[in-house]
Amino acid sequence: MNSKFFRGVHPPDMKKSSNAAPIEAIEVQAGMNFFIPLTQHTGIPARPVVKKGQIVRTGELIAEAAGFISANIHSPVNGVINAADVFADYPMNTRAQAISLTASDNQNTDFVPLKEDLLVNTVKAAGIVGMGGAMFPSHIKLSPQKKPDILIVNGAECEPYLTCDHRLMLERTPELIRGALTIKESLKLKRVIMGTEANKADAVNALRTTGQNRIEVISLPVKYPQGGERQLIKSITGKEVPEGKLPVDVGVIVHNVSTVLAVHDAVYMHKPLTHRVVTVTGGVKKPKNILAPIGMPISCLIDACGGPDGDIEKVVLGGPMTGICAHSLNIPVYKGLNGIVVYLKDAVKRKTPSPRPCIRCARCVRACPAGLSPVTLENFAAKEMYKELAVWKLMDCIECGACNYVCPSFRHLKNIFRLSKKKIAVTAAEGKNGG
Ligand code: SF4
Ligand code: SF4
Repeated sequence: MNSKFFRGVHPPDMKKSSNAAPIEAIEVQAGMNFFIPLTQHTGIPARPVVKKGQIVRTGELIAEAAGFISANIHSPVNGVINAADVFADYPMNTRAQAISLTASDNQNTDFVPLKEDLLVNTVKAAGIVGMGGAMFPSHIKLSPQKKPDILIVNGAECEPYLTCDHRLMLERTPELIRGALTIKESLKLKRVIMGTEANKADAVNALRTTGQNRIEVISLPVKYPQGGERQLIKSITGKEVPEGKLPVDVGVIVHNVSTVLAVHDAVYMHKPLTHRVVTVTGGVKKPKNILAPIGMPISCLIDACGGPDGDIEKVVLGGPMTGICAHSLNIPVYKGLNGIVVYLKDAVKRKTPSPRPCIRCARCVRACPAGLSPVTLENFAAKEMYKELAVWKLMDCIECGACNYVCPSFRHLKNIFRLSKKKIAVTAAEGKNGG
């Protein structure tokens, strides 16, 4: 099958150092401190339901969803609450409100089970959000306003370096298929399609062998951003999601591999979302895919890989195309964190050059999978011309970074778009609140 989505780029996939590393659970030691951010999802921060000094068990609810778009949060360990209103290092806002707790033992397997029975209620109670990075509460996607026909399980993992979904497709194949079929049955869908990329042939084989003819498995060409929701829908079904519409408007819902497994674990093991698999790679001594508790500082994961293999230049959370530079190694693992990529001073052959003037080459336009004109958008964004940005469809930007990747002048296009979108969202929220 040829990739049918528009434009895109071909960065080196850089997955070899971790794609054969089986998932390892990281050890928790008694006395370890955890910071659990209250904003690990799109929408309203969760509301703490614990107090200082309270003893909690793994899986116990510690913060509840505080609105329609919000998500529950559970303790990742047995421990004692230190504070329910601290501020912790967090990538999105530099600091975020969090619950602080200290582990009281190293047990990691027993947990307080969920008690719900219906799928949507279970997923909501479990605090499951989109684990591919979007962090949108999954129970909302699973109770769509319109009836979808197709579930696409997003196993493209097109970001360079990341291999956690690849390992999960290989190591938890039956559970992944069972989770996907459970969603199919619950929403009375016609089809379940697993979409992955050709550089994961072993996962494709495992899914086809285990899935038999209960699910369709499609291996797509390696092209970035194949795993973008709209790009994946286009590649697999040929359908375009119209501007301002959602995938469900064309009869499709998309869930990431890790999310579908979290749904499986919630439904069949009654397990809330307290852990996730994170790829830790780049300049570490032993790149790994680590099953880590939410709230554990990322420094512990880097240490679990033998530490950095030299002096750290920077650490990127997520992949190099869409990720965010970590400003601190105390940032905790959060529900949407799929990768930690360490860059060493020696290995960075040339430091990222400073941006140079645009030479109007239009490479960014030819690369943009959303059909935008990044060069034009950048011009309006720099001048804070928000009406023009709306006309040129800034909100359709999926922040994939393909424009940055091809720009010969090293302009920080994606970054300025991300900032402008945030400013527009804040202005809109202030307008709603009469601010
Ligand atoms: S403008 Fe947005 S969608 Fe287009 S390439 Fe740049 S980051 Fe990606
Ligand atoms: S790729 Fe860079 S230099 Fe070329 S038009 Fe776009 S912004 Fe300008």
